[in-house]
Amino acid sequence: MLQLESIEVRYGGLTALDGVSFEVREGEFVSIIGPNGAGKTTLFKAISGIVESVGAMTFEGRSLREVPAAARPHLGIAHVPEGRQVFGSLTVEDNLRLGTKALGARGDAPRNIERIYGLFPILAERRRQLAGTLSGGQQQMLAIGRGLASSPRLLMLDEPSMGLAPAVVDQIFDAVRALHREAGLTILIVEQRAIEAIESCDRGYVIATGKVVASGSRDELLANPQIRSAYLGA
Ligand code: ATP
Repeated sequence: MLQLESIEVRYGGLTALDGVSFEVREGEFVSIIGPNGAGKTTLFKAISGIVESVGAMTFEGRSLREVPAAARPHLGIAHVPEGRQVFGSLTVEDNLRLGTKALGARGDAPRNIERIYGLFPILAERRRQLAGTLSGGQQQMLAIGRGLASSPRLLMLDEPSMGLAPAVVDQIFDAVRALHREAGLTILIVEQRAIEAIESCDRGYVIATGKVVASGSRDELLANPQIRSAYLGA
Protein backbone atom coordinates (compact mmCIF):
# COMPACT_ATOMS: atom_id res chain seq x y z
CA MET A 1 0.00 0.00 0.00
CA LEU A 2 2.72 2.46 1.09
CA GLN A 3 6.29 2.12 -0.14
CA LEU A 4 9.21 4.32 0.80
CA GLU A 5 12.63 3.99 -0.70
CA SER A 6 15.78 5.81 0.39
CA ILE A 7 13.95 8.72 1.97
CA GLU A 8 16.13 11.57 3.08
CA VAL A 9 15.10 14.70 4.99
CA ARG A 10 17.39 17.53 6.01
CA TYR A 11 16.74 20.43 8.35
CA GLY A 12 19.48 22.86 7.31
CA GLY A 13 22.73 21.03 8.08
CA LEU A 14 21.05 18.25 10.08
CA THR A 15 20.14 15.00 8.33
CA ALA A 16 16.99 13.84 10.14
CA LEU A 17 16.30 10.87 7.83
CA ASP A 18 19.09 9.15 6.01
CA GLY A 19 18.02 6.58 3.43
CA VAL A 20 14.92 5.17 5.10
CA SER A 21 13.13 2.39 3.20
CA PHE A 22 10.07 0.51 4.35
CA GLU A 23 6.63 -0.62 3.35
CA VAL A 24 3.18 -1.04 4.76
CA ARG A 25 1.01 -3.70 3.12
CA GLU A 26 -2.75 -3.47 2.96
CA GLY A 27 -4.38 -4.59 6.20
CA GLU A 28 -1.14 -4.57 8.21
CA PHE A 29 -0.43 -3.01 11.58
CA VAL A 30 3.11 -1.62 11.33
CA SER A 31 4.91 -0.07 14.29
CA ILE A 32 7.95 2.19 14.22
CA ILE A 33 9.88 2.54 17.43
CA GLY A 34 13.05 4.39 18.31
CA PRO A 35 14.52 6.82 20.81
CA ASN A 36 13.83 10.54 21.13
CA GLY A 37 14.99 12.50 18.13
CA ALA A 38 15.42 9.39 15.95
CA GLY A 39 13.39 10.93 13.14
CA LYS A 40 10.04 9.20 13.68
CA THR A 41 7.90 12.33 13.55
CA THR A 42 9.91 13.58 10.59
CA LEU A 43 9.13 10.34 8.76
CA PHE A 44 5.39 10.89 9.23
CA LYS A 45 5.73 14.50 8.11
CA ALA A 46 7.54 13.35 4.98
CA ILE A 47 4.72 10.90 4.18
CA SER A 48 2.13 13.66 4.67
CA GLY A 49 4.23 16.09 2.65
CA ILE A 50 4.59 18.59 5.50
CA VAL A 51 8.38 18.47 5.16
CA GLU A 52 10.40 18.25 1.96
CA SER A 53 12.06 14.92 1.32
CA VAL A 54 13.90 13.12 -1.44
CA GLY A 55 13.52 9.47 -2.38
CA ALA A 56 10.70 7.40 -3.83
CA MET A 57 7.34 7.31 -2.09
CA THR A 58 4.28 5.58 -3.48
CA PHE A 59 0.80 5.01 -2.09
CA GLU A 60 -1.32 2.36 -3.79
CA GLY A 61 1.02 2.39 -6.75
CA ARG A 62 0.91 6.13 -7.23
CA SER A 63 3.91 8.38 -6.62
CA LEU A 64 3.21 10.80 -3.78
CA ARG A 65 5.63 13.18 -5.46
CA GLU A 66 2.79 14.21 -7.76
CA VAL A 67 0.38 14.78 -4.87
CA PRO A 68 0.59 17.99 -2.83
CA ALA A 69 0.33 17.68 0.97
CA ALA A 70 -3.19 19.10 1.04
CA ALA A 71 -4.42 16.45 -1.39
CA ARG A 72 -2.93 13.42 0.39
CA PRO A 73 -5.84 13.04 2.86
CA HIS A 74 -8.14 12.69 -0.15
CA LEU A 75 -6.17 9.61 -1.21
CA GLY A 76 -7.09 8.05 2.13
CA ILE A 77 -4.00 8.90 4.20
CA ALA A 78 -4.96 10.15 7.67
CA HIS A 79 -2.12 11.52 9.81
CA VAL A 80 -2.95 11.99 13.49
CA PRO A 81 -0.07 14.19 14.63
CA GLU A 82 1.81 14.07 17.89
CA GLY A 83 0.38 16.21 20.69
CA ARG A 84 -3.38 15.75 20.20
CA GLN A 85 -4.01 18.71 17.98
CA VAL A 86 -7.74 19.21 18.39
CA PHE A 87 -9.60 22.48 17.92
CA GLY A 88 -10.12 23.43 21.56
CA SER A 89 -12.76 26.08 20.97
CA LEU A 90 -14.94 23.77 18.88
CA THR A 91 -17.20 21.04 20.24
CA VAL A 92 -16.27 17.38 20.04
CA GLU A 93 -18.82 16.88 17.27
CA ASP A 94 -17.60 19.85 15.25
CA ASN A 95 -14.04 18.50 15.45
CA LEU A 96 -15.31 15.19 14.05
CA ARG A 97 -17.33 16.95 11.35
CA LEU A 98 -14.18 18.77 10.25
CA GLY A 99 -12.49 15.38 9.99
CA THR A 100 -15.11 14.24 7.48
CA LYS A 101 -14.14 17.02 5.04
CA ALA A 102 -11.51 14.83 3.40
CA LEU A 103 -14.23 12.30 2.65
CA GLY A 104 -15.45 14.09 -0.45
CA ALA A 105 -18.04 11.93 -2.10
CA ARG A 106 -16.57 8.78 -0.60
CA GLY A 107 -18.83 8.31 2.33
CA ASP A 108 -21.48 8.99 4.78
CA ALA A 109 -20.28 11.52 7.38
CA PRO A 110 -23.03 11.05 10.02
CA ARG A 111 -22.56 7.28 9.92
CA ASN A 112 -18.81 7.65 10.33
CA ILE A 113 -19.29 9.90 13.33
CA GLU A 114 -21.68 7.38 14.94
CA ARG A 115 -19.06 4.64 14.40
CA ILE A 116 -16.44 6.77 16.16
CA TYR A 117 -18.84 7.26 19.07
CA GLY A 118 -19.18 3.48 19.18
CA LEU A 119 -15.42 3.11 19.45
CA PHE A 120 -15.04 5.88 22.04
CA PRO A 121 -18.36 6.15 23.94
CA ILE A 122 -16.99 8.94 26.15
CA LEU A 123 -16.88 11.17 23.05
CA ALA A 124 -20.59 10.53 22.48
CA GLU A 125 -21.34 11.60 26.05
CA ARG A 126 -19.32 14.77 25.52
CA ARG A 127 -20.34 15.52 21.95
CA ARG A 128 -21.47 19.08 22.77
CA GLN A 129 -18.54 19.86 25.05
CA LEU A 130 -15.69 22.09 23.88
CA ALA A 131 -12.71 19.94 22.95
CA GLY A 132 -10.37 22.15 24.98
CA THR A 133 -12.14 21.10 28.18
CA LEU A 134 -11.56 17.35 27.62
CA SER A 135 -8.90 15.39 29.51
CA GLY A 136 -5.67 14.53 27.69
CA GLY A 137 -6.82 10.98 27.01
CA GLN A 138 -10.17 12.14 25.68
CA GLN A 139 -8.42 14.67 23.43
CA GLN A 140 -6.26 11.86 22.06
CA MET A 141 -9.39 9.80 21.38
CA LEU A 142 -10.88 12.80 19.60
CA ALA A 143 -7.70 13.31 17.54
CA ILE A 144 -7.87 9.64 16.46
CA GLY A 145 -11.60 10.02 15.84
CA ARG A 146 -10.96 13.00 13.60
CA GLY A 147 -8.51 10.92 11.59
CA LEU A 148 -11.08 8.13 11.29
CA ALA A 149 -13.83 10.53 10.27
CA SER A 150 -12.34 10.68 6.78
CA SER A 151 -12.66 6.87 6.34
CA PRO A 152 -8.94 6.54 5.70
CA ARG A 153 -7.28 3.64 3.88
CA LEU A 154 -4.17 4.18 6.05
CA LEU A 155 -4.29 5.57 9.60
CA MET A 156 -0.99 7.05 10.80
CA LEU A 157 -0.71 7.67 14.54
CA ASP A 158 2.21 9.65 15.93
CA GLU A 159 2.82 8.74 19.57
CA PRO A 160 -0.76 8.42 20.73
CA SER A 161 0.44 7.48 24.24
CA MET A 162 2.37 10.70 24.82
CA GLY A 163 1.82 12.15 28.28
CA LEU A 164 -1.04 9.80 29.16
CA ALA A 165 -1.56 7.60 32.21
CA PRO A 166 -1.00 3.85 31.65
CA ALA A 167 -4.69 2.97 31.99
CA VAL A 168 -5.60 5.50 29.31
CA VAL A 169 -2.80 4.23 27.05
CA ASP A 170 -4.26 0.71 27.38
CA GLN A 171 -7.68 2.00 26.38
CA ILE A 172 -6.27 3.74 23.32
CA PHE A 173 -4.23 0.72 22.23
CA ASP A 174 -7.30 -1.51 22.69
CA ALA A 175 -9.26 0.77 20.38
CA VAL A 176 -6.49 0.86 17.76
CA ARG A 177 -6.10 -2.93 17.86
CA ALA A 178 -9.87 -3.29 17.44
CA LEU A 179 -9.79 -1.01 14.39
CA HIS A 180 -7.15 -3.23 12.87
CA ARG A 181 -8.64 -6.58 13.83
CA GLU A 182 -12.32 -5.92 13.40
CA ALA A 183 -12.45 -3.20 10.78
CA GLY A 184 -9.34 -4.41 8.91
CA LEU A 185 -7.86 -0.91 8.88
CA THR A 186 -4.22 -0.51 7.87
CA ILE A 187 -2.30 1.12 10.72
CA LEU A 188 1.11 2.76 10.87
CA ILE A 189 2.10 3.89 14.34
CA VAL A 190 5.13 5.64 15.78
CA GLU A 191 5.69 5.05 19.48
CA GLN A 192 8.20 5.42 22.23
CA ARG A 193 6.22 2.88 24.27
CA ALA A 194 7.92 0.03 22.51
CA ILE A 195 6.24 -2.84 24.34
CA GLU A 196 2.68 -1.90 23.40
CA ALA A 197 3.72 -0.95 19.87
CA ILE A 198 5.58 -4.19 19.16
CA GLU A 199 3.08 -6.47 20.85
CA SER A 200 0.25 -4.94 18.80
CA CYS A 201 1.95 -5.01 15.40
CA ASP A 202 2.25 -7.46 12.53
CA ARG A 203 5.65 -6.02 11.63
CA GLY A 204 7.85 -3.27 12.94
CA TYR A 205 10.89 -1.13 12.28
CA VAL A 206 13.40 0.38 14.66
CA ILE A 207 14.74 3.80 13.70
CA ALA A 208 17.80 5.37 15.30
CA THR A 209 19.51 8.58 14.20
CA GLY A 210 17.57 8.72 10.96
CA LYS A 211 18.18 5.13 9.80
CA VAL A 212 16.30 1.85 9.98
CA VAL A 213 18.49 -0.28 12.26
CA ALA A 214 16.22 -3.32 12.64
CA SER A 215 13.00 -4.68 11.22
CA GLY A 216 10.96 -7.84 11.34
CA SER A 217 7.72 -9.48 12.30
CA ARG A 218 6.31 -9.00 15.78
CA ASP A 219 7.79 -12.31 16.94
CA GLU A 220 11.19 -11.58 15.39
CA LEU A 221 11.35 -8.20 17.10
CA LEU A 222 10.23 -9.62 20.43
CA ALA A 223 12.95 -12.29 20.20
CA ASN A 224 15.74 -9.91 19.11
CA PRO A 225 18.16 -9.60 22.07
CA GLN A 226 19.30 -6.06 21.14
CA ILE A 227 15.71 -4.85 20.94
CA ARG A 228 14.83 -6.63 24.16
CA SER A 229 17.62 -4.94 26.08
CA ALA A 230 17.38 -1.49 24.46
CA TYR A 231 13.61 -1.07 24.18
CA LEU A 232 11.75 -3.74 26.09
CA GLY A 233 13.57 -3.52 29.40
CA ALA A 234 14.48 -7.22 29.27
P1 ATP B 1 10.48 12.44 19.38
O1 ATP B 1 10.15 11.06 19.79
O2 ATP B 1 11.20 13.23 20.42
O3 ATP B 1 9.32 13.17 18.77
P2 ATP B 1 11.43 11.78 16.77
O4 ATP B 1 12.02 10.44 16.63
O5 ATP B 1 10.04 11.97 16.34
O6 ATP B 1 11.60 12.27 18.25
P3 ATP B 1 12.04 14.01 15.08
O7 ATP B 1 11.12 14.93 15.79
O8 ATP B 1 11.62 13.52 13.75
O9 ATP B 1 12.40 12.78 15.99
O10 ATP B 1 13.46 14.73 14.96
C1 ATP B 1 14.56 14.16 14.27
C2 ATP B 1 15.73 15.14 14.37
O11 ATP B 1 15.43 16.31 13.61
C3 ATP B 1 16.05 15.62 15.78
O12 ATP B 1 17.44 15.77 15.87
C4 ATP B 1 15.35 16.95 15.87
O13 ATP B 1 16.00 17.79 16.78
C5 ATP B 1 15.49 17.47 14.45
N1 ATP B 1 14.37 18.34 14.04
C6 ATP B 1 13.06 18.02 14.06
N2 ATP B 1 12.31 19.03 13.57
C7 ATP B 1 13.16 20.01 13.21
C8 ATP B 1 13.02 21.32 12.65
N3 ATP B 1 11.82 21.80 12.31
N4 ATP B 1 14.15 22.05 12.43
C9 ATP B 1 15.35 21.56 12.75
N5 ATP B 1 15.58 20.35 13.28
C10 ATP B 1 14.50 19.57 13.52
